[in-house]
Amino acid sequence: MDHDVREVPVGTPAFVRAFLSGQIRKVRDLVERIVELPQLAGAHQPAVQVANLLLRWCVPTKCVHLLRTLPPEYTADFCTAVDSMVLDAFCDINECREHFGQVQRHLYETPMAWGGLGMRPLYAVRNAAFVGCWMHCLAHVRQHHGPVIRGFDVGWDPGGRATYSFHGEYRCALDAVNDDLGVDQDAYAVVGFAFHDAMRSEQPKCQKALSRAVLARRFATWRDTLDPRSRALGILQAATSEGRRSMASEWLVTSPFGPRTTIPDAQYRLAVRKRLGIPLCNEQDGCRVQKGGMRPGGHPRRPVQPCGSTFLAHGDHAQGCARMEIQERHDGLADLCAACNREAGHIAHTETEVPGVLSE
Ligand SMILES: [Zn+2]
Repeated sequence: MDHDVREVPVGTPAFVRAFLSGQIRKVRDLVERIVELPQLAGAHQPAVQVANLLLRWCVPTKCVHLLRTLPPEYTADFCTAVDSMVLDAFCDINECREHFGQVQRHLYETPMAWGGLGMRPLYAVRNAAFVGCWMHCLAHVRQHHGPVIRGFDVGWDPGGRATYSFHGEYRCALDAVNDDLGVDQDAYAVVGFAFHDAMRSEQPKCQKALSRAVLARRFATWRDTLDPRSRALGILQAATSEGRRSMASEWLVTSPFGPRTTIPDAQYRLAVRKRLGIPLCNEQDGCRVQKGGMRPGGHPRRPVQPCGSTFLAHGDHAQGCARMEIQERHDGLADLCAACNREAGHIAHTETEVPGVLSE
């Protein structure tokens, strides 16, 4: 075994529900400790970054094995409870509860590769996890236990008669996954094999394929409701890993193992708000980018002082303003060097701005 043996309840429905209540208490205890981290840590420690990483990697993922082994009807309430605890903790750690609406919720749940924060909701994937697990292990279970369970092979298909409760559980969950996937696709089309293939040989990665397809449909359904000019759509387009900005979401999962990957608390919270499309500024906040110094084209130096432009709520001006200052400084220096060279009799070539190439 390459992982810890995890707890799984085997018994009556009442026993299973009591077990899951106990699990919810365990998750709550863990989440409360994670939320406390930023208050307990020293000022120089990247506690917000660490708390976010612990919340991402150590809470919902620890519950997934239960979704694989227990029928979705048992795990629905459990998933809702865990999802809401994780969401509350996320808002507390990142201090973003005030503006956290439906758009933020969707961005929070959308996988990182598609421009979201990748906090996967357990509730949405519980059917896919259960069906995917059966598809993966069915051949193994059948090989080792099928001969002693009379009628094991029949009852899985909608046409056959369900002999045991596990047949019915699988069929119910399969119907639910097909509902999750919508009318255009079904579970077997997503995994790329038929049920009798799963009976004969192990089929790995089914859970992953099904969960991803379910989340993709949820995502596409939501995205199609967005106004083409909406801020949320702009965030998704800017942060997706499929375009030129393949590393756009890496800050969410990087560990603070060195200065280059350590994000101070204030900056982390700011980045989360930015990614969720939450306002960053108060009205009348002014831009504090320091302007001045060298200017292109041999203009005289300006005194260094804050830009002073008034921000709108999302503070978009600041990013362009800071970049423009860097470019002007760079161009000013390049022009000065070129002028010196020309004075000395050289032919000096400088970069020519090509929109969309050098300016990006
Ligand atoms: Zn400015």
